[in-house]
Amino acid sequence: MANFLKRLELQGFKSFANKTVLEFPSRVTAIVGPNGSGKSNVIDALRWVLGEREAKHLRGDTIGNLIFAGTPKKSSAGFARVALYFDNSHKTFPFDSPEVMLIRKVDRSGVSQFFWHDEEVRLRDLLPILARARLGSRGLTMIGQGQSDIFVRSSAEDRRMMIEEILGLREFRLKKNQSERQLDSSRVNMEKVQAMLAELTPHLRFLRKQKGRFDKRSEIEEKLRALENTYFSFRHGSLITAIEKASVPISQLEKEKIEKEKEVLIFEKKLKEIDAKAYDVKSLNEIREKIRLLLAERATIDKSLARGEARLELAVSKSVAAAHSQKELLDFIQDISLEIKSLLNFENLEKIKTALSLRLENIEALLKKEKKSAGDELEKEVKDWRVKLEAVEKNVEALRDEEEKMLLGQQKMNQEFRAQIEALEGRKNNLRLVEEKLQREIFEKEKIGLKLEELNREWFSLGRDLAELKTIPVSGEMIDSPEAERKMMRLRGELAAIGEIDEGMVKEAEESESRYEFLSRELTDLHKATTDLRVLIKDLEERIHNDFKNAFKSINEEFNKYFRLMFGGGRAHLKLKKYSPPAEEKNNEIEGEVVEKKYAPTEAEKEEAEQKAGIEIDLTVPKKKISSLEMLSGGEKTLVSLAALFALISVSPPPFLVLDEVDAALDEENARRFADLIKEFSKKTQFVIVTHNRATMEAADILYGVTMGDDGVSKVLSLKLDTVSSNS
Ligand code: ATP
Repeated sequence: MANFLKRLELQGFKSFANKTVLEFPSRVTAIVGPNGSGKSNVIDALRWVLGEREAKHLRGDTIGNLIFAGTPKKSSAGFARVALYFDNSHKTFPFDSPEVMLIRKVDRSGVSQFFWHDEEVRLRDLLPILARARLGSRGLTMIGQGQSDIFVRSSAEDRRMMIEEILGLREFRLKKNQSERQLDSSRVNMEKVQAMLAELTPHLRFLRKQKGRFDKRSEIEEKLRALENTYFSFRHGSLITAIEKASVPISQLEKEKIEKEKEVLIFEKKLKEIDAKAYDVKSLNEIREKIRLLLAERATIDKSLARGEARLELAVSKSVAAAHSQKELLDFIQDISLEIKSLLNFENLEKIKTALSLRLENIEALLKKEKKSAGDELEKEVKDWRVKLEAVEKNVEALRDEEEKMLLGQQKMNQEFRAQIEALEGRKNNLRLVEEKLQREIFEKEKIGLKLEELNREWFSLGRDLAELKTIPVSGEMIDSPEAERKMMRLRGELAAIGEIDEGMVKEAEESESRYEFLSRELTDLHKATTDLRVLIKDLEERIHNDFKNAFKSINEEFNKYFRLMFGGGRAHLKLKKYSPPAEEKNNEIEGEVVEKKYAPTEAEKEEAEQKAGIEIDLTVPKKKISSLEMLSGGEKTLVSLAALFALISVSPPPFLVLDEVDAALDEENARRFADLIKEFSKKTQFVIVTHNRATMEAADILYGVTMGDDGVSKVLSLKLDTVSSNS
């Protein structure tokens, strides 16, 4: 059978200042040496590397005392290091390597570290692995100096722990304890979470309501927004289309207006041309002045002529009066004056001229008769005047012709001017009509523009962006505007009824909701965890209980056997401590008297009590009446403890046992018996024993001698016992 414990290295640990190696090639290793040489320090090193935390179990006040303190001849060490090598061919530890090294180190700052080989491991993770390998630093697997009676000395509960450890149940016990701690902390956490939920719920209810209102508000706002979009984009689109439509006639009319304006300009130009050609009033007036002057000249000539003629007449009349009666002349003059009167009514100059010529001839004819009597000079004078008169009249006539021509031309031009003005007016009228029409169209367009502006204002007043309005696709469907307006009004009313909701509150609601969800999830997880833990704890309890129960009977039998062997008879028996309910339930105090209460434990309580029950020792020693364990001697207590130890290892042998001078109190016979049992059990368990006892030494396969020199440093000498025996 391979040895589980292979090698121990100490460096700076207690009295082992130098690196010291102890190999364990055999089943039984005995460590021997004088008092105070450092044998127990080796056991302390084993205990320490296997996770012992308390200094008192390492025979020191502080962890610092574990480091070589220095002697007058040897300076102190800065750290202590212990390495323990195990055989791992049976995969006792969860590593692939056939050999496993566990190291513990501590320095003077108090930093303590564990390593699997080079990899650091936390004690919390290490302990379950050691427990699974059934390696403990206390109890029966590692009995320290002066603890040989430990089984008897311990409490019923500790005895149970010792048994459980040897049975390999410590792993489950640790797991159970850990699960119970987890369960406790889960319960505490659950209570905390429940309290937090209870605190959160009323406020959350309020926040949920606010959130509900906010959601409702958002929903309405969304509806309203969609409706506004449809309504405004439709109206906007319609107005834009209307403006575009209205622009068509306007641009046509504008073109038309330009045409008409051009026409008006053309006609105005023509009119100006005509106007420029219009008669020259100055020339006409000049002609008229000339005519007036000529007429005045004619009047003068006429007067001169009349005077000449009158003188001639007079001259003639004198001769005529001689030839003609007065009556004839008067009649003649009468006729002439009548004729002149009638001539005055004549307008026509020609007729006047003709009548005057005729009368002149009559007069000349009359006068001819007397001419000879009138002077030639007068006659010539009259004739000259007549020529002059004729010339003047000719001139007048010519001027009159010119005047008439001018007047005719003026008349014609006036007609043309009028016609042109009429035509111009017609064009202007056309232009005005076009302008009026254009104005009407522009006005119509402006009206639409105003409507659009109003719509934009409305949109803007809703807090919306104008640019956005243009980007909203226009609904193809016809919108019933009044209906849409009613709907919008209703939705706005609903919004007003809901009122404003603080967004911060909504954010708080969301945060609280997620916190609530988180806590609820946490609570569910904790519920599940506690349920799982309860199941696990129950399973572990059952496992511990069943394994314990199964082994307990055999242990008892073996215990009795080894007890009888060691005491040469008698009887020993381990029994489970009876159920004892908690004191406050058991007793009921009435008026200062303690009265026993009739208490009936439940089945579950009974079961729990049995699972936790401690171990009591019941024994009978031959020839003695023992009513209490305290009555036993020190050696007897050690014997009972050793009987229990051997009973346990016979039922469930641990991988190795470390016993520090447990045989010290035994008499020779019992020491021999002890040595025999060690020999016998070494087949199942490896032993490391510190002893001063020769019989025990003889049971060992290898002896290590520990010595301490002048320098206060422990040293180890290795001696194969065979060699020692053969040498001695
Ligand atoms: P016994 O047979 O009497 O039980 P022992 O061989 O078991 O003796 P230990 O108890 O192992 O002796 O060793 C005690 C010795 O170790 C003492 O001499 C003590 O001075 C020494 N020692 C303990 N701690 C330290 C330390 N930190 N530094 C140096 N030496 C130490």
